Order: sequence, then C-alpha cells, then structure tokens
Amino acid sequence: MTQAVVIDKTEDQQTVTLRDVSAADLPEGNVLVDVAYSTLNYKDALAITGASPVVRSFPMVPGIDFAGVVRDSSHADFKAGDKVILNGWGVGEKHWGGLSGQARVSGDWLIPQPAGMTARQAMVIGTAGYTAMLCVLALEEHGVTPDSGEIVVTGAAGGVGSVATMLLAAKGFQVAAVTGRASEADYLKSLGASSIIDREELSGKPRPLAKERWAGAVDVAGSVVLANVIASMKYGGCVAACGLAAGMDLPTSVAPFILRGVTLAGVDSVMAAKAKRIAAYDRLVSDLDLSKLDAIATELALEDVIETAPKFLSGAVRGRIVVPVNPS
Ligand code: NAP
Repeated sequence: MTQAVVIDKTEDQQTVTLRDVSAADLPEGNVLVDVAYSTLNYKDALAITGASPVVRSFPMVPGIDFAGVVRDSSHADFKAGDKVILNGWGVGEKHWGGLSGQARVSGDWLIPQPAGMTARQAMVIGTAGYTAMLCVLALEEHGVTPDSGEIVVTGAAGGVGSVATMLLAAKGFQVAAVTGRASEADYLKSLGASSIIDREELSGKPRPLAKERWAGAVDVAGSVVLANVIASMKYGGCVAACGLAAGMDLPTSVAPFILRGVTLAGVDSVMAAKAKRIAAYDRLVSDLDLSKLDAIATELALEDVIETAPKFLSGAVRGRIVVPVNPS
C-alpha cells in the first residue's frame, strides 16, 4: 500500500482525499516507479480545485511530474534501480500521476535523470522549469542573443517565470521581470532580474503597436498581458508563449507580425518529443547553478497538497513547490 492524492467525481461533486492505494490499483503501464519527489504545478492546482476541466477521467491521481526510481520494468530502456523523470504526457490528467508513493506509466514517457542533477533538483525545476528551458530554446532558435536586447518575463515570481529569469540571467541576458507582487522585487533581483515591471503596466487595453522595448519574451500570462508584450517587441523579436495565467484569449492584431516581423513561438511541454526533453534537461544541468535552486523552492508534504492548491490559483505562491514523497 502507498498513499496518493485521489480526485473523485460523482455527478457534479468533486472530492479530493489522501488515501491508500495498492500497486494493483495503479493504471496500466510497463514501468513501476517509486516516486521520490513530485511537485505542485499550476495545472495540478486546477485539477485538485476543479477550477478548470483538466482531469479527463475519475478517479484520478494528480501530479503532472515526478522523479523517482524504477522498481519494476518490462520496457527495453529501463530496469529496476534506474533514476527517471516524467513530465506531462497527460499524466495527472488522463493517467494517474506523481502525487503518489508509486506510479505506473509507459516507459516511452520517461527520461533518465541526468548526471549531475538530483531527484529533488529535477523536481524543483519540474515541469515549470523544463517549460522555461523550452522557452529559452525557442528564443535561441529564433536568433535572440544577449546582444539583441532585453528579454521580458511575465509572471516572473511564479514557477516558469522564476526559472526563466534564472536561466536567462545566467546566459548573460538583461531580464525585465514582470510581477503583480511588488514585494517580490528583491527575490526577482536575487534570481538575476535587471529591472522590475509592475504587471499593471501591461494590463491596459492593448494597442496594435507600442514603443519597441524587448528583443525577446517569455510569457506565462496570455490575454491582454501577452497582447501588450507583442505590441512592445523590437523589430524581429520573438515571444515564447506558454501560459494562460491571465486568460486564454489574445486580443492582438497582425500589426506586430507584418510591420515588425515579430515571431510568436508557441511552447508546449506536454507532448514534446523525447529528444527535445533530454536536450532541455542537458541544458538545465549546464546552464543553471543547481546549488541556487533552493532559493526558488518550498517543500510541501503530500498530506498538505490538497489544502495548498487553492493558494496556487490566487497567485500567492513564490517559485516552485516540491513534494517529497519517498525522498532519498
Ligand atoms: P505559477 O507558479 O502559478 O506562476 C504564474 C504566475 O503568473 C504567478 O505567480 C503570477 O506571477 C502571474 N500571474 C498570476 N495571475 C496573473 C494574471 N491575472 N495576469 C498576469 N500574470 C498573472 O504557475 P506556473 O507553473 O509558472 O505556470 C504559469 C503558466 O504556464 C500557467 O498558465 C501554466 O498552465 C502554464 N504552463 C504551460 C506549460 C506548457 O507546456 N505550455 C507548462 C507549464 C506551465 P507574479 O505574481 O510574479 O505576477
């Protein structure tokens, strides 16, 4: 038996409990993993609170990511004792996830834990940090370099934003960190932000074009915030868009694209190919000072996950929340 967060739904009523599950309860899969660490991501908070229809079948164990040790495998790439990481693939949405002592998944979804990174570090980074890396890679693929100009990061004090700020600063970029929380200015500067922008500045009705300010952007917000970012990009700039913290809509025009050659690069971590994931984790090992990850991490016990989820959606969480399940 092991403990897991379980979401149930009967008619319109969703309940979430921490309860015992056995290996026999776990879904189909060819690799059984003892979960060392999982995390609480924005999407997990949506699933646990029911604020958005993230969960596709019930009962469901949330947790879109985990790092752990293979207990049993019939997959050619993995054997008992291997250290592995999982991000996305619908885990925690369609397939039971990482907020559990054990997870049974397809080995095709796993990547090896990279040398030089612990399970805890892998989960402090988590899906948010791996997505931040994908955003930085997208900017690089579009030719954005530190010489191109300043990069704006929205939702900077959140999970994706904190890691994006650290990654960009480590590569020598000037980072303008957008936050709705003035109290997080010192935190953001400690991560390497060179300037702080009040979110209000990007929350007004977007104009088709505004003054050219940024060479690149990592946006977790969507909606009017993203529209204002796009309108303020320098000629030839690139926006890596990965989130919807402000909303799913995008009230913009074609003007920045056809008059300034701006690129809007969509970033998805869930279905990204295995090779891209491995490349992103390799870059996380080489680019991040992993010893500094504690600055963005808060530990949360598995039994406290359910009550903490609503705070996540109110934007009150700083950095990343890591959940030690069977820490080693
Ligand atoms: P998070 O830790 O909750 O951070 C989101 C941050 O956005 C908040 O901390 C807050 O930062 C800011 N924010 C909150 N409400 C906002 C609003 N109304 N307008 C503008 N900014 C707002 O969440 P996360 O894990 O970083 O995820 C961020 C977003 O990326 C979510 O929408 C998530 O679903 C998405 N995401 C997408 C992928 C993908 O594969 N595409 C992967 C991971 C996450 P400040 O207080 O600093 O303003």
